[in-house]
Amino acid sequence: IPLDHLADLVDELPPGLQPPQLLPSVVILGRPNVGKSTLFNKLIGRRQAIVGDEPGITRDRHYGVVEWLGRNFELVDTGGIVPDDEAIIPVNIFRQASFAIEGATLLLWVVDAREGVTPLDEELVRHLRATGKPVFIVANKVESESVRAAAGEFYRFGFDTLFPVSAEHGTGTAELLDAILDFTQAPVAAPPPPERIRVAVIGRPNVGKSSLINAILGEERVIVSPIAGTTRDAIDTDLVHNGRAFTLIDTAGIRRKGRTTAMAEKFSVIMARKALERADVAVLLLDAVEGPTHLDEVIAGYALESGTSILLALNKWDTIEKDANTAKLYERQLRERVKFLDYAPAVFISALTGQRVTRVLDLAVRAYDARYRRIPTGELNRFFTEHLATPRATMPTSTPVKVHYVTQARSVPPTFVLFTNSTKKLHFSYIRYVENRLRENFDFFATPLRIVSRPRL
Ligand code: GDP
Ligand code: GDP
Repeated sequence: IPLDHLADLVDELPPGLQPPQLLPSVVILGRPNVGKSTLFNKLIGRRQAIVGDEPGITRDRHYGVVEWLGRNFELVDTGGIVPDDEAIIPVNIFRQASFAIEGATLLLWVVDAREGVTPLDEELVRHLRATGKPVFIVANKVESESVRAAAGEFYRFGFDTLFPVSAEHGTGTAELLDAILDFTQAPVAAPPPPERIRVAVIGRPNVGKSSLINAILGEERVIVSPIAGTTRDAIDTDLVHNGRAFTLIDTAGIRRKGRTTAMAEKFSVIMARKALERADVAVLLLDAVEGPTHLDEVIAGYALESGTSILLALNKWDTIEKDANTAKLYERQLRERVKFLDYAPAVFISALTGQRVTRVLDLAVRAYDARYRRIPTGELNRFFTEHLATPRATMPTSTPVKVHYVTQARSVPPTFVLFTNSTKKLHFSYIRYVENRLRENFDFFATPLRIVSRPRL
């Protein structure tokens, strides 16, 4: 069973994560070639594992932080510390990796279930016991029922916790991670949100980006402007609005004479992409007079790809002749163009008159808070009982997949794991159903959600 999304869940560390030395430390030990390095890479989520059968292969990166279900621990691969040709004498492992072992909260003793107990394993056990540390046995290379049964042989060493896994395929690793977290009581990994809400104002030329920034700054107290070093491309301006600190990232850039329309358009896309890398919230500005264009759609696509929270702001609303239905009509037209941004709210503004420009900041606060939101387990369990416990019509009835429970793996962007009774992927429409219920129940405003399913058989 390929569990590639395990890697997805432990990808890049969120900003502000605790330094590794404050985390529980879990140390992988075992004789050469049992799969320590493969397991390490699987748990860390590194795809390009450095593994090989040649003895003494150098592995220089053997420390890492694992995030799993919102918690962190440090993982150490002693196979990276002790060369294989020296590790065939167990005492060498314990001498050379003594620093890591002494600091360990838990030891993972990796064995090869296909080969069974070897004399080297017997010798290792004596040293493992001498550490006085808790030990989980990880019986690796379990890829068949017969090997799974054979793995039971390792129970005779008196450690009562054994996990059959296949580090290569990722089977059993979720159970192992759950047990590690239960045991170590790892701290919650909620990243402290950055102090400032970084808002990028993006859009094609002449939609009113500069005007909007100026309108906001005209209304608000400007604290610092502009920040040195960023003036060349995007201009950052710090401000405070209703007690919340913002950095506005202005992508309008320096106006140069003689720039052609085509050049300016290309430039606006490049600037948007750069700003999106640093932003929490993107305000995609559109021109109400001209209506949504292909270039708006292109920029919207990059905003979607970046994973930022997104607000759609239709500018120059002052120039539109309005009746009761005008806003609805314009919004429908806009949504036709950017169907894929259905979670982004639309707001009608005028940078010229200042109409609703501070509302943009209020919405940005709501979007930002949604982005960093963590749903407490109790609330998520109630949500599950109410909305997910019974199968829905949106599931194909021929092969109903049952969801056992749901958990939030991380924030930024909020990511949820549905544990199911099947290795089959959940149907797209069901994922949509879950997404919509999550949005309604927990105000995931203007923010993309990631929903993955994982078999828990
Ligand atoms: P280490 O020396 O203990 O770090 O072991 P490695 O991670 O370098 O793995 C040794 C060999 O076992 C490599 O050829 C891996 O591809 C293979 N291996 C590791 N894990 C598994 C597994 O779960 N199943 C199978 N079939 N082979 C594995
Ligand atoms: P940018 O290229 O996106 O930074 O756009 P600018 O802020 O330079 O605005 C382009 C043009 O649109 C200027 O002539 C502005 O005066 C005008 N403009 C911007 N916002 C508004 C608005 O809300 N209403 C009207 N009527 N004109 C606007």
